[in-house]
Amino acid sequence: MTTVLIVEDEQDLAELVAFNLEKEGYLPVIANDGVSGLNQARDVVPDLILLDLMLPGMPGIEVCKTLKMSEKTASIPIIMLTAKADEIDRVVGFEVGADDYMTKPFSTRELLLRIKAVLRRTGEVESAGRTITAGDLTIDSDRHTVSVAGEEVILTTTEFKLLLSLAERLGRVQSRERLLKDVWGMSHMGDTRTVDTHITRLRTKLGACGDLIKTIRGFGYKMETE
Ligand code: CA
Repeated sequence: MTTVLIVEDEQDLAELVAFNLEKEGYLPVIANDGVSGLNQARDVVPDLILLDLMLPGMPGIEVCKTLKMSEKTASIPIIMLTAKADEIDRVVGFEVGADDYMTKPFSTRELLLRIKAVLRRTGEVESAGRTITAGDLTIDSDRHTVSVAGEEVILTTTEFKLLLSLAERLGRVQSRERLLKDVWGMSHMGDTRTVDTHITRLRTKLGACGDLIKTIRGFGYKMETE
């Protein structure tokens, strides 16, 4: 059964989402503040987390950052829920490792579609299965691990998928639109800044191997070993 953790302090909204998830065959778990959300995430290790940005005590951004720092919870996909339509929130959300975001008010139907899309991405990564090397970089798509010169690097599901897309077509230039379609799916067509934000974060995490990802100005990216 697919478990979805709902971290939301608006009780009515949390229950409405839980009710609809249950109807679709998911197992919802509710946490009403940031700290209990974090604890539930560690205990339950859900398949996906719906994380409200404005929470009492610990804000959603902090919850997200903390989850992404721990090996046990780093690969759990996160959809952020935000009341603000502000662009800044979205960028910050992606920077701390969220896989997607939804602006309130949202329709349950739209939320269910996003959940399905995010879970599909996660599933695809897990079923790919082989090892790719580029310089000091090793990607094991079976075990879903990445290492740089033997040191493991913890990536989010989205970062991993993006890295895999680049590595699988080593030396070939890929447009941002292509990467967006491959990694995020059709629902995100057009918002190419999402790709740039994730590439920046990926490069930082890869450290010495970050240079393997080359920017092709005004077009996209490629991975190259020399
Ligand atoms: Ca809230």
